[in-house]
Formats: sequence, structure tokens, C-alpha cells
Amino acid sequence: MKWFDYAAPQSLDEAIALMAAHPGARPLAGGTDLLVQMRAGRKETDFVVDVKRVPELNELMYDPVHGLTLGAAVPCYRIYHDGAVSRAYPSLAEVAALIGGTQIQGRASIGGNLCNAAPSADSVPLLIALGGRCRIAGPAGAREVPVEDFCVAPGKNVLQAGELLVSIHLPPPEPGSGARYLRFIPRNEMDIAVAGAGVAVVVENGIFRSARVALSSVAPTPLFVREAGDALAGKAVDAAALSEAAGLARQAARPITDMRGTAEYRRHLCGVLTRRALEAAVARAREAH
Ligand SMILES: Cc1cc2nc3c(=O)[nH]c(=O)nc-3n(C[C@H](O)[C@H](O)[C@H](O)COP(=O)(O)OP(=O)(O)OC[C@H]3O[C@@H](n4cnc5c(N)ncnc54)[C@H](O)[C@@H]3O)c2cc1C
Repeated sequence: MKWFDYAAPQSLDEAIALMAAHPGARPLAGGTDLLVQMRAGRKETDFVVDVKRVPELNELMYDPVHGLTLGAAVPCYRIYHDGAVSRAYPSLAEVAALIGGTQIQGRASIGGNLCNAAPSADSVPLLIALGGRCRIAGPAGAREVPVEDFCVAPGKNVLQAGELLVSIHLPPPEPGSGARYLRFIPRNEMDIAVAGAGVAVVVENGIFRSARVALSSVAPTPLFVREAGDALAGKAVDAAALSEAAGLARQAARPITDMRGTAEYRRHLCGVLTRRALEAAVARAREAH
């Protein structure tokens, strides 16, 4: 690996100043993507800014009025070991436990998963389905972007030079809500999803009040399928409604053929995974009621 300089700032201002002072600097959270990519020569930098000691990026705070603040560098194990977070967002705890294995989960963050902007990033469809918003800070100040607008191309996101993802905010779960992310992978763990579907629903008296659906590994970015969720709103929870939403997800997918599966197979999986994830989210919504 090429030599690089390293700094571990203790405050957000210091981190932003370091990013500004070193054009081309790369932030490091868990490093489970960055270091692998640098070693393989796929990413280069002379300066790494380790953001793990910045308090705002380490915040994990849930309250039922304001929802969840998930600091961008919080490692996955902290998410699924946090009782309040696991109760309020069981689907998020599940996805944190799905990324890599135990060793990876000790380092890897959801913020890094999002910033890496892989089409296959497992947490991103769920964050989209849960209505997540990204809080960003940089030399020009702070701004917010919905998670569905954050990734713009494979490996590319909306962050401008010197900007950092500070945290992801999720709204508090509504009564009668449920969410789930399901993926299909060739092996049981440590592989890239052939396709994945993240969904969130709100169900009231057997009727969908709202729903959101997003997909992984079937487009250049994690894909928000707004029309699939909108099609469910106001409809009775039944097989016909779920099939319609699954069909819309299948249509929205723009997959490629590669060694993990053909485009046609991936499109098929989008329908199956969306329907199954919706069934699981509805079951969870009924338990929560
Ligand atoms: C063995 C193994 C198994 C894996 N399994 C999975 C899996 O099952 N599912 C999956 O989705 N991924 C998987 N991954 C990929 C990786 O672990 C995840 O994407 C992880 O969530 C990345 O988080 P991180 O904190 O390590 O990110 P890092 O590697 O630290 O950063 C990732 C990218 O984001 C940038 N970045 C980090 N933090 C910020 C910030 N605050 N602001 C701006 N930019 C930032 C970095 O510069 C880098 O480009 C696996 C990786 C390995 C090595």
C-alpha cells in the first residue's frame, strides 16, 4: 500500500479544517471498504482523516419524539447491542448484523456503507425505506439530503470537496409500522447481494397507510422505487396489493448481468424479495400495533 499521512481529529471543526487543508484527503470510519480499496489500488490518497473520535459522528441517540440520530462512524455492533435502538428499529439492528461477520461489524459503520455508495450496500435500501436523512457538514456549512438522493453513481455520492457525512437521522416509528430488508446472496455470509429489497410500511385496520420500497444491486445506485410504495397506500393488505407492488419493483430494476446472476434473474429476485419483505414488514407492523 502507498504511504499516507494520518490524522485523528477530536472535533468536527478540526476534521473539516483537515479535509480543507488537504485536498484529496479521504475520511476513514471503520476502514473496511477504504483500506481494502487502497490496498488494491482502487482508491488513492496522501492523507487519511480518521473520523472515529469526532463526538458527533459517534452519537447513537434514540428518543420517541425525535427519532434516531445515528452518527456516521458508529460501528454496526453498537447498533445491534443497543436495546432501545433494537426495539424501535429491529430492521436496522438486523441489517447491522448482516454486514460482513463479527470482526467486520466491530469496525464497519452504516455511514461508511452509505458513503462508499456501492449499488450493493445492504443498509442503504432500508435507510431509504425508513425515510432517512443525511446530515452533512463542510467548509460551506451544514445541509441535509434524503438518503435516496445521496448516492449518484457507483462509488460516488453527493458530498462536495471537504464535506463529511455527520449522521443519519431516522424519524420515530409510527404506530402500526414495520420494516424489513431481505437480500439474496450466493453464500450465507461475506458476499455481495445478487439483489436486495428494503421496505417499510404503516398499516392501520388492515389498510396500508403508507409504504416505501428500495432495492440494492439492481441499478447503478441503491434504487428508491417510490411508485411501488405509493401503489400500496390506501389499499387493503392482501395478496393482490403485494403482487402489484412486487411487480412495480421488478419493472423499476435496471440490473446488469455478471458472475453473480443474469439481469433477468435479478429482476425476478426483485419481485420475490419485495413481496417477501413486505409480508415480513406487515407481520411486524401487526405485532407493533
Ligand atoms: C469481509 C467483508 C465483508 C463485507 N460484507 C458486507 C456486507 O455483507 N454488506 C455490505 O453492504 N457491505 C459489506 N462489506 C463492505 C463494508 O464492510 C461496508 O460497506 C461497511 O459498512 C463500510 O463501513 P466503514 O465504516 O468500514 O467504511 P470506510 O471503509 O471507513 O469508508 C467507506 C467509504 O466512505 C468514506 N467515508 C467514511 N466515513 C465518511 C464520512 N463520515 N463522511 C464522508 N465519507 C466517509 C471513506 O472515505 C470511504 O470512501 C464487507 C467488507 C468486507 C471487507
